[in-house]
Amino acid sequence: MKRERSMQLWERARKVIPGGVNSPVRAFKAVGGNPIFIARGEGPYVFDADGNRFIDYVCSWGALFFGHAFPPVVQAVADAAKRGTSFGAPTEVEIELAEMVQRFFPSMELVRFVNSGTEATASAIRLARGATRRPKILKCAGCYHGSVDSLLVTAGSGVATLGIPDTAGIPNSIAAETIVVPYNDVAALEKAFTCFGSEIAGFIVEPVAGNMGLVPPKEGYLVRARELTAEAGALLIFDEVISGFRIGAGGAQEWYGIQPDLTCLGKILGGGLPVGAYGGRKELMEFLAPVGPVYQAGTLAGNPISMAAGIAMLRAIQSQKEQLYPELEQRGHLLADGLRDIFAKARIPACVSQLGSLLTVFFTAGPVWNYEDAKLSSTVRYATFFHAMLSRGVALPPSQFECWFISFAHDERVIKQTLEAAHHAVRELVERG
Ligand code: PLP
Repeated sequence: MKRERSMQLWERARKVIPGGVNSPVRAFKAVGGNPIFIARGEGPYVFDADGNRFIDYVCSWGALFFGHAFPPVVQAVADAAKRGTSFGAPTEVEIELAEMVQRFFPSMELVRFVNSGTEATASAIRLARGATRRPKILKCAGCYHGSVDSLLVTAGSGVATLGIPDTAGIPNSIAAETIVVPYNDVAALEKAFTCFGSEIAGFIVEPVAGNMGLVPPKEGYLVRARELTAEAGALLIFDEVISGFRIGAGGAQEWYGIQPDLTCLGKILGGGLPVGAYGGRKELMEFLAPVGPVYQAGTLAGNPISMAAGIAMLRAIQSQKEQLYPELEQRGHLLADGLRDIFAKARIPACVSQLGSLLTVFFTAGPVWNYEDAKLSSTVRYATFFHAMLSRGVALPPSQFECWFISFAHDERVIKQTLEAAHHAVRELVERG
């Protein structure tokens, strides 16, 4: 497989962009080697700068629910651009998309649009702090909520500990306002509320965790989270940036029947354009300026091109949802069962986690219920598998701790081709032991 052009672009990129990328995971550091530079995408495929075609399971980290260059989104964006790209003034399309979001997510009585998932979570926790007048945020180890100071915080050594910064650039004083508990651990959650209850503004959680690889919630976990937050007068914030519109049309909250106080959305909502949103009960959202005292703003927030893309995306979901989700679940099963079979036959310890169109192969015997479990995976094996698949025309996420995203363009034929590639790729794992 030719890689010259990608290599040249990689050299050139590093002269002008830190590490050559605008978001770290793209640099392949977790799997080694050099990133491929993408020239275009179509349906389930991406084509790199050397003209190689790959079945793509990154799908812009989940944003592309119908695959690349989805015609209704492309058309909507082109039409909107002709009318003007941004006004910095209210437009009708913002109302239209907000009304659609509200129909999918009835808990979001009022919705504020921003430009990314990160902005949505950062704004939601500011709102939680402003509305409750409390300083602390509770989060789970291994849940990622974007590049937000208070949320880029890792656990200390105890069960419910004050956070320590995950990265340089975050003062300890900020991290100390974040409490970190293991995911799926009711006892740790109870302990956190016992120790810090009156100081906790909100518990932010991925109701289906997707950033330590796919880890679904244990039965009863989200119910208990709802009870504990309510008892403590803290807000339950569902970060549905991945799970929104993906686990089902109404996200994880509909799937599991839990109503959070605030919800954060992104990815699919923008149809591949930069859109995030957060929303919740009216009286809570009205703490936001210009009605209330919590300030949050954005020059390009709700711009007509992003809104048009989101409307096209949600219309497509709305019109096909009866068929879309069962079909995706079936394809997810086909891929997961096929992979389980391949690894079992090759005697490679692997735990394949799948829910609808999300999937992760953990290279550990499992089960994986939290970040500590996920970290038992062999990242070396993942890297070998990743490259073996890439050289066979399948682009997986360049890290063990991510989800594979199946789009509606990944039909049965594409899934079977993926399994065929995996069948051959696994030999490299066996050879390396
Ligand atoms: N929340 C979750 C659950 C995410 O997976 C991500 C990104 O991967 C974010 C928030 C941040 O979104 P963005 O990258 O659009 O800022």
